Amino acid sequence: MAVSREKIQRIADMLEGRISTQELFRVIAGQKDPEAFDALVAYFQEKVPWTERVILPLSDHLCIVSKTEGTKKKAIVKCTCGYEFEDYRVNWKVKARVYVRESSEEFHEIYPQYMHAEPGWQVLREYYCPGCLTLLEVEAVPVGYPPTFDALPDIQTLYRDWLRRELPVDDHTFEDLTADYVKTHFTVNH
Ligand SMILES: [Zn+2]
Repeated sequence: MAVSREKIQRIADMLEGRISTQELFRVIAGQKDPEAFDALVAYFQEKVPWTERVILPLSDHLCIVSKTEGTKKKAIVKCTCGYEFEDYRVNWKVKARVYVRESSEEFHEIYPQYMHAEPGWQVLREYYCPGCLTLLEVEAVPVGYPPTFDALPDIQTLYRDWLRRELPVDDHTFEDLTADYVKTHFTVNH
């Protein structure tokens, strides 16, 4: 769907922090614009240096995009820098670079004294893009907790049933494939 330049500019102003709190509140509390989704997709499509079609933005740096591989069209997660995290059904965090803060010294680099979690009870994981080293996400979890899957959106239902459009990727099962990926790509040394 073609979206006006004005609407794309408005999304850019919102995401890049150029509108006032009052104006932002009016957008959040007011009547929803049915073209806002298309404006958001168009904003990311214009911003990135690559040409794969954006299906759904996940954050300010990650998008689910349509990737052609031979005769197949797959939905993958791609960073705005171009780094590909592959199949969107695998939590991209297991393919990211991770820095884990777990000692008092490491917590003190960002927290004032006595304001951080008890070492041994909680860790802070910082996930970085292997391509551009941008900090993509931070999670505070108990020690040993699996990486949280922030969003596994049902893009088939979104496109076919909600937007009434053709999905620009091949049919696929809607399931979390993270455990399978971890099983075949990681080994644990005891
Ligand atoms: Zn990147």
